[in-house]
Amino acid sequence: MEISGPRGTRDILPEESYLWQKMENILHQAAQQYGFSEVRLPVFEHTELFERGVGDTTDIVQKEMYTFTDRGERSITLRPEGTAPSVRSFIEHKIFTKAQPTKWYYMGPMFRYDRPQAGRFRQFHQFGIEAFGTSDPDIDAEVMAVMVRIVKTMGISQFQLHLNSVGCPDCRPLYRERLIQYLTPFERDFCGDCKQRFHKNPLRILDCKNPGCQEAVKGHPALSDYLCDRCGQHFEQVKNTLALYGIDYVLNPQLVRGLDYYTKTAFELLLPDLGAQAAVGGGGRYDGLIEECGGPPTPGIGFAIGLERLLTAAQKQNPEAWQASYSPVDVFVVTAENEFAPDACSLLEEIRGSGMKADKDYLSRSLKAQMKFAGKTGARLVIVIGEEEKKKGYFVLRDMKLHEQRQIPADQIIDEIKSILVKPEEEQYAE
Ligand SMILES: [Zn+2]
Ligand SMILES: [Zn+2]
Repeated sequence: MEISGPRGTRDILPEESYLWQKMENILHQAAQQYGFSEVRLPVFEHTELFERGVGDTTDIVQKEMYTFTDRGERSITLRPEGTAPSVRSFIEHKIFTKAQPTKWYYMGPMFRYDRPQAGRFRQFHQFGIEAFGTSDPDIDAEVMAVMVRIVKTMGISQFQLHLNSVGCPDCRPLYRERLIQYLTPFERDFCGDCKQRFHKNPLRILDCKNPGCQEAVKGHPALSDYLCDRCGQHFEQVKNTLALYGIDYVLNPQLVRGLDYYTKTAFELLLPDLGAQAAVGGGGRYDGLIEECGGPPTPGIGFAIGLERLLTAAQKQNPEAWQASYSPVDVFVVTAENEFAPDACSLLEEIRGSGMKADKDYLSRSLKAQMKFAGKTGARLVIVIGEEEKKKGYFVLRDMKLHEQRQIPADQIIDEIKSILVKPEEEQYAE
């Protein structure tokens, strides 16, 4: 048997997982500051949900889904994204009958049968938010504000928000026709995918990364010139509210996003230092999606952000805050003699009960070896229990960071280590 994880998966080991917890705390906090509540959804759904909810001309549905038949002969798919499952849940639990809007966020693993490459995995993680039940342009700006707040809180200062409007079912058909007219002379230069897209979904050709296709679309007509009055006004107000929030953006007429059901606002967050995979996240308005999935006509907007890429970007742009230097223990208790093990155990429980992380040796090591092991754990403090000390009722407290050692009366030890370890809140956030 081969002892390695499947291709495209990776383990997040403890040296890294604490960074994930730190990132997840930022994500929970940012979403909640804007009034979004967490929804936890299953990792697999009926295949049909994604065919309808993501769109069957998309790469995700055509090439990348993990689909299998379960023992009950049902076609099941590991979720490739979080919007369609959120929509399914919104409809299934009749959330639309409650006061709107519904503001949800989610995070967790997603699955796509992609060709593994740097920074891309077949099991990867996304955070996303969805706002259902309002077409107010202010919510479009708010959704982007959440995304921007997250990257800023992570210490990422180099980024660009790209913005476009992809119109609506009233104005897009006219543009689509105009685009087909424009693209027809270039049809034979398109990549295989775009030859297929050409009649089904020609807008997708605009964001094809193939050089031949990019060359062909260079002088394409801009959708923004074809927007109907409603879409035009909506777009104006989105831009005005972004300005109120102090959020800079770049208008990008080529930004159409991969999914079929986007309407009006579309946006992407680009990071300069991620190379070929510059987009860390993106989203848009999808006013037709909930109806398409079997619910009542309900507007919606959201975004998703890739967490592997987000963490990588934070580590590059803000290395001090995101370097891996985790110590699982604050206080390590060592004993001069094995017979003091019970004293160590009761002291440990007291320290833990006071909210600090504490541990001891479990391999009957010598005092010297215990000290060495304590150093490896990265514990800030070491407490020594010895014959002499026990008799006189105190502990030796060694501060590994300041390289100093003091005798502390047994009844003051908890207060003493607390005063060293527990920092005021401002300091914790400055870290
Ligand atoms: Zn329109
Ligand atoms: Zn192409």
